[in-house]
Amino acid sequence: MLDRPSGIPEAPLLDERALARALSGWHFIGGRFVPARSGKTFAVHNPATGEEIGRAADGDAADVDAAVENAAAAQREWAKMPARKRGALVAKCGALLSAHAEELARLIALETGKALRTECRVEANVVADIFEFYGGLGSELKGESVPFAPNVLTVTVREPLGVVGAIIPWNVPMLLMALKIAPALVAGNTVVVKSAEEAPLAVLRVCELMNRVLPAGCFNILSGYGPECGAPLVQHPKVRKVTFTGSVEVGRTVYQTAAAKIIPVTLELGGKSPMLVFADCDFEKTVMGAITSMRFTRQGQSCTAASRIFVERPLFERFVDALAAKVDAMVMGDPLDEKTDIGTIISPTQFEKVKGFIEEGRATKGASARVCSRLPEDPALKKGLFIQPHIFTGLPPESRLVREEIFGPVTTVFPFDDAASALAAANDSEYGLAASIWTNNLRVGLDLAHRLEAGLVQINQNLVVQANISYGGVKNSGLGKEASLEAMLEHFTHKKTIMVNYA
Ligand code: ADP
Repeated sequence: MLDRPSGIPEAPLLDERALARALSGWHFIGGRFVPARSGKTFAVHNPATGEEIGRAADGDAADVDAAVENAAAAQREWAKMPARKRGALVAKCGALLSAHAEELARLIALETGKALRTECRVEANVVADIFEFYGGLGSELKGESVPFAPNVLTVTVREPLGVVGAIIPWNVPMLLMALKIAPALVAGNTVVVKSAEEAPLAVLRVCELMNRVLPAGCFNILSGYGPECGAPLVQHPKVRKVTFTGSVEVGRTVYQTAAAKIIPVTLELGGKSPMLVFADCDFEKTVMGAITSMRFTRQGQSCTAASRIFVERPLFERFVDALAAKVDAMVMGDPLDEKTDIGTIISPTQFEKVKGFIEEGRATKGASARVCSRLPEDPALKKGLFIQPHIFTGLPPESRLVREEIFGPVTTVFPFDDAASALAAANDSEYGLAASIWTNNLRVGLDLAHRLEAGLVQINQNLVVQANISYGGVKNSGLGKEASLEAMLEHFTHKKTIMVNYA
């Protein structure tokens, strides 16, 4: 039976403010809520109002050490459990998370400012699905037999790596955490997660829920700042694998530390994803596709956001007009209001950064912006971090808005004359995470799909992360795959060869 601090109920709690307060000030280590050893906490804010909604334990190297030691001790027993049984427990976690989906969705809306209806419910449901998916893959941890020599039985077996350190960002924290911990656990590893400082509460609740099912110490979570808590996690000698989602800059540091320890890493570092629209596309579907591709309902805070849209010239004006009209009709407001399509930017720092890009775009000669939707008028939201979606045209290819990841509701649209020039422009980026092509000519679509530099290319759709579909980029977008069987086998196990000479 879990020892739960007062105010944290066993049943789902749909009062997100009460839940945020109750979850304040804790890490979760070794099957228990524990405060930071230093006693320090930091504030968690609702970005729609600026109010403090709770506090997070401010983790440092001492907390990291406690969590990793607990995870290392638990890993020995966890790895001995039959893989299918581990999978069954992870699937059971999925069912429990599913039962708490509405609660988790409300809490994530409160702490991230993402709209409940369009974003947070989707995230909570996909999270449950990821655990259910990986829960069924225990028996896929297979090895091979190798035809080495007669009378020498040679086989390979998949073994877990040990303790996995997982560092996650704030944009879809529960989902990105699930992509890491579900395969890690099923493969027999134990995990220590470092949550993002902006969104530590919903993932803490996920950890507590899962600890009702998993043996103590298998899944530990720490909140804290990157240099003080994330860096010691990567450096810890007993962490044998690091999986990271975040910026290229921090990803490089993580990779360097891992290189010094000679441990494997998975890095998911963002993107500047192109969308290629041909004149023969299904117009209405493609305009709606641009809205989902650009993740306007997530304020563009997505690594796969279609932040560069290339449209065949005859369709260009009509497409920009139709896209602007559709985005204009979207409702910006209180994330917890069912009417709201678009919520807020996560933090004042991100808010200023996105505003800076917009100002730079507006000051660029020849560029113009369609500014869509309306800022909320509710006085309760006057300190909210709302930014109107901007659709830029006329930007030069060297503009920072075209080259850098903005992580805000800002997309750039360009005309093109032929498939070859569209392909060249699309590939002219340091990133290579995702891309989409919209055409009814499959010959053109498939040809481009093979030539686009991206980890995932979709034709006539642009779905978000899906269980069983490998997700992960090339170039500066990172290393390794997530969300699939391949992700579990290649990134959370190593292959050992065993030879038996029975001659
Ligand atoms: P973002 O811009 O999305 O916040 P970051 O790369 O800054 O991206 O942060 C992603 C995650 O990496 C967060 O959990 C953050 O605390 C963590 N982080 C930041 N700096 C470091 C670091 N030096 N070492 C390890 N983790 C870090």
